[in-house]
Amino acid sequence: MSATVQSKILIVEDESIVALDIRRRVEKLGYRVTGMAVRAQQAMTLIESELPDIVLMDIHLNDAIDGIDVANAINEKYRLPIIFITAYSEDATMGRASQALPYGYLLKPFSERDLQAVLKISLERSKWDQKLQRSEARLKLAIDAANMGTWEIGERSGSTVVLANPIKHGDTQFSNWSEFRPLITARDRRRIDREINNLQNRLQDSIELEFEVDDARTGPSFYVLYGVADDQGERGTRDVLGVIQDITARKLAERELQQAALVFNSSSEAIVVTDQNLTVANANATFYQITGLTAVSVQGQPLDLLSAANIGQATREKMNAALAQGECWRGEVRAYRQDDQPFHALVNISRVASRANGPWQYVILISDISEMRRAQAELAYIAYYDTLTGLPNRHLFMDRLNMAIAHAARAKSRLAVLFIDLDHFKRVNDTLGHQVGDQMLRAIADRLQPVLRTSDTLCRIGGDEFIVIVDAFDTTDDLEALCRKIIEAVHQPMLLGKNEVTPGCSVGISIYPTDTDDKDDLVKMADTAMYSAKGLGRNCYAFYQPQMTQAVAHYLNREQELRHALQQRQFVLYYQPQFSAENQDIVGMEALIRWQHPEVGLLSAAEVIPVAENSSLIVDIGEWVIGEACRQYRIWVDKFGKNIRIAVNVSPRQLREPRFVSIVTNALKTSQMPGEFLELEVTESSLQNCEASLVALRRVESLGVTISIDDFGTGYSCMSSLKLLPIHRLKIDQSFVRDIPGDKNDCAIATAIIALGHQLELRVIAEGIESREQADFLRAAGCDEMQGYLLSVPLPPGDLAELLREHQQLEE
Ligand code: C2E
Ligand code: MG
Ligand code: MG
Repeated sequence: MSATVQSKILIVEDESIVALDIRRRVEKLGYRVTGMAVRAQQAMTLIESELPDIVLMDIHLNDAIDGIDVANAINEKYRLPIIFITAYSEDATMGRASQALPYGYLLKPFSERDLQAVLKISLERSKWDQKLQRSEARLKLAIDAANMGTWEIGERSGSTVVLANPIKHGDTQFSNWSEFRPLITARDRRRIDREINNLQNRLQDSIELEFEVDDARTGPSFYVLYGVADDQGERGTRDVLGVIQDITARKLAERELQQAALVFNSSSEAIVVTDQNLTVANANATFYQITGLTAVSVQGQPLDLLSAANIGQATREKMNAALAQGECWRGEVRAYRQDDQPFHALVNISRVASRANGPWQYVILISDISEMRRAQAELAYIAYYDTLTGLPNRHLFMDRLNMAIAHAARAKSRLAVLFIDLDHFKRVNDTLGHQVGDQMLRAIADRLQPVLRTSDTLCRIGGDEFIVIVDAFDTTDDLEALCRKIIEAVHQPMLLGKNEVTPGCSVGISIYPTDTDDKDDLVKMADTAMYSAKGLGRNCYAFYQPQMTQAVAHYLNREQELRHALQQRQFVLYYQPQFSAENQDIVGMEALIRWQHPEVGLLSAAEVIPVAENSSLIVDIGEWVIGEACRQYRIWVDKFGKNIRIAVNVSPRQLREPRFVSIVTNALKTSQMPGEFLELEVTESSLQNCEASLVALRRVESLGVTISIDDFGTGYSCMSSLKLLPIHRLKIDQSFVRDIPGDKNDCAIATAIIALGHQLELRVIAEGIESREQADFLRAAGCDEMQGYLLSVPLPPGDLAELLREHQQLEE
């Protein structure tokens, strides 16, 4: 019985005689007594040092505490079999003693057989208890390792959940279900309660449910709760128990996978997954959509998009080298869809390990960038070409000029820049509309192209401005011949919609390196020469001369000077009387602007109006003119008591100005001039294609103001619409009067205008009458009123007062 011999017994007994007797009897039975304690403290010390297999404990100790207390203290620290020895067996003591869970009792006096039996049973039981403890400890370890808490509802817990093993959540351990439960989302909490209830009420035998904990501190966490029923409980009751496991990591991984799958399936980029040899394992819907291929034809096959045939041998080798190094590869590929349509794709290949230490896979992203490339090409085109005519624009022109200059410098040759500007293009735009204007520009481009050599470059650099780079020429005579051909080609009648128009152009020429070797100056000089050509009359060309620059600079300064003149009140109005053809009465006056220049003297309207019309200055000057004319009316009426009609010229730009109507209204009001004595002279272009102008004219008409069409016959009036417009008078342009009566055409035109005017119930006035013959012819043709040097030149107001007085006397 060597095992028994080795079993160590500790005896705690305050009466030494009894203690010695027990020792003797224990040893006799073959056990080893490892110590004997008389007092509680001594007993604890010995237990610690000896770790006995059994403690024989006297309940009554001659100490502050008794053997039951010592047994409880031992139980707290160690799980040792304790056998109580006592002489008393009254209920109270035995009740306390049983709470300390002793392995047995020996009631004094006891026999050796009693001792032997209790020691043997205790040792045996202790062995099983230890086994059980170990397996419990192992279970606990396993439960801890699996991140689990355990729960149960049994006889002892009533109907509440008890956590036998705490739930770990973040860095907190929950040992109390009632503390953990509130963290569970409301919906899941209800589910758990219901399911546990079902389990308890025998509606289910096991449950498994996932739930979410919504904790602001830790972010969302996920758990699974398993529960089973145990019907082996005492009195046939049902215990339920189970585990709660933290599955947050798995859940998040699942979510990530779901997201990845979603990205894969819904990505607007094509995604292909291949093996190490670029053999397709999987591809998303976009890939099939872009390529027009099907899964059957692609999966398990090498990715054709990246074949050497598609991307070129050299690129393929570079790509292979990069991938072999474990690097990403990115490149642009021009590939073909299933229907042979080419497309541009941006390809990005990255290497990923499919499993730890597993073989490589490649994830290939393919973006269809065809649309982007097309837009880029279009932008590049727009950046360098004029979309209207398809000709190179200013940008490309400058590039080409640069190249041409470099070439001429090397070849020691000359080159010329021809600056072509259409004459009166603005008038076409204003009267016939921008659409017709565009049509004309396209037609002009078509006319110019065949006149040029292939080595010449034709560009459109702005509104109605074209430029030709003449690359190498022999003599300036050749250039002159070319300019004549250009002017000739342009100056042919063309049909724009229903209108026949004969365009004209002016050409300025500058020469490299004769005039300059700077490309910008070369353009400026050609431009200057073009202005000069315009000054020569239309349909002309001019070579650049240094003195021209001065003239142009003068033109640019003009605007500044005019602004100054307006401020300094240097403008004056001259008045040219208009006479009744019938009885020579003065029926009206045309106000004509003059510039009383402090140094140069009196300047004509031609020095003011064309420059002013290029900017908003015309609006300010026009406002002054209307105000001044109305003021003069008041003076004359007050002086002569006779109402007189005053005609004021109005530019198209003035009419489009939103303030125009109020300018007229104010002027009339300030001078107390009835509207019917003010006449506005507008040109035909003002009446076309501008709704705002027509509205303005209708509104001033409602003030009683009359409207006359100036320079009638030179624009492109639509005859049928004349009737619908608020017009009272037609003014035959002086170009038709000039050669009357010699020129039969002019006579016919003047006669026709008079007839037309009368048909439309309009009055007709002729301007620029310089000879009696002209006056006679027009009077005979029925012209109502006359104006011209023959009758009176434009006069300053003072001189006019004289004339008015004379007329007044005549009348009297
Ligand atoms: P327009 O309205 O056709 O004016 C008639 C022009 O012919 C005036 O030139 C006038 O002096 C000139 N003229 C008059 N009788 C004869 C003649 O018998 N023979 C010749 N050869 N010419 C004659 P002006 O004053 O130099 O004005 C030129 C143009 O300037 C005007 O043409 C008008 O369009 C514009 N203009 C003049 N004053 C103003 C103004 O205050 N405002 C605006 N917007 N334009 C004005
Ligand atoms: Mg006029
Ligand atoms: Mg006129």
